[in-house]
Amino acid sequence: MQNIKPGLTLLSDALEIAFFEVPVAQHVEERPLTDCYGAVLREDVMAGFSVPSVDNSAMDGYAVRFADLATVDGTMPVVGTSLAGHPYSGTVPEGTAIRIATGAAVPDGADCVIIQENVIADQDEAGIEIAGDVIARTRRHQNIRWAGEDIKKGDVVLRAGMVLRPQDIAIAAGQGRASLKVARPLRVAVFSTGDELAKPGDPLPPGGIYDSNRFAMIGMLRDIGCQVTDLGLLADDFDVLATAIGDAAQNHDVVMTSGGVSVGKADLLKPVVDKLGEITAWKLAIKPGKPLMRGRIGKCLVIGLPGNPVSVLVSGLLYVLPLLRHMMGAERSWSEPVRIPVRAGFDFQRGTGRREWLRARLIQTDDGEFEAVAFSSTSSGMLSSMVWAEGLIEIPENCGKLSKGDQILYLPLRGLQ
Ligand code: AMP
Ligand code: MG
Repeated sequence: MQNIKPGLTLLSDALEIAFFEVPVAQHVEERPLTDCYGAVLREDVMAGFSVPSVDNSAMDGYAVRFADLATVDGTMPVVGTSLAGHPYSGTVPEGTAIRIATGAAVPDGADCVIIQENVIADQDEAGIEIAGDVIARTRRHQNIRWAGEDIKKGDVVLRAGMVLRPQDIAIAAGQGRASLKVARPLRVAVFSTGDELAKPGDPLPPGGIYDSNRFAMIGMLRDIGCQVTDLGLLADDFDVLATAIGDAAQNHDVVMTSGGVSVGKADLLKPVVDKLGEITAWKLAIKPGKPLMRGRIGKCLVIGLPGNPVSVLVSGLLYVLPLLRHMMGAERSWSEPVRIPVRAGFDFQRGTGRREWLRARLIQTDDGEFEAVAFSSTSSGMLSSMVWAEGLIEIPENCGKLSKGDQILYLPLRGLQ
């Protein structure tokens, strides 16, 4: 039984519920391959033909009949060539060799390729000399790539729901595809809220701070291929918030805000969303990021992130991005963070009940093992901790104490996009 504070939802439950309640967007578009990097694939891609399409050579050398090697005196006439795109048309005559290039079709009759470095070719390349030890080392089928050994006709080479990486786009190209069906980018409107905020570039009024969260949100959203509308700063004013958020909800799939979701007097996001639509979730058992709010205005998803800059980034990476990926049709496994077991390089104590992420780095100790070290402060207001961090240490809800040497889970930040 986990010791969760009343009124808070476990992250795992919150994501499960959000995945269930928030539908996958139906909009799919056919996009040229070079515009598909990082997009969510929305079709299964089947191989229309095998790769390689014919048996071909893995090396530059000479194609021979393996059985001939036992009978020849160490020399063989070279009677033709097979180049990539220009195959040798006949069957290899017994006792002869065909000059062959990497990727060229293995001619009928040949069943092994001897690499060119292992033979001595005549000046005019009309014949080759093969030393006895090379013949002794040669095996049948050596250096031949078989038709279909990479991909067989009918194989599903890419599955709907994956997030396309360079190798995935390359395999589609290898099948002759010029475009793929992918999720249309989510249209996300982004606001920062707070009377204390100033726009970078403007003068800073006394007591003001520059709005940094908007830039964190926009970056995270762009990283997963969203089409972002930057709607700037909003004051802590009910009518201002209601008008701007209500308008944005009309022509966006998601409205994402920072600040104003807690319980202070100036925290107006909840009443605004409650008036315009409904609040579907609030307060997660996580640290940082507890006050995170999810709601709905018409068909538009509303995500209210807390104002603290570390909360924005951590809850953004671990809750919002998986949810938006899901909306674009991604399989869950594509948004699960990578969790690597490593040793703790520090002692730590805390109250239980929330899943907590410490800003962390890996260091290699004298014995060659990796150890995670944590930033000196756990404050969610310190953006410098995220700039310092290369990863996060995840502390489970029911863990109250860590000692140096304990096994912990490390989440590389680069694996969180
Ligand atoms: P709030 O959730 O609105 O109470 O904000 C919590 C803390 O985060 C306060 O210290 C705010 O000044 C700070 N904060 C809110 N919005 C931003 C922002 N856009 N950029 C940087 N800090 C912010
Ligand atoms: Mg505020």
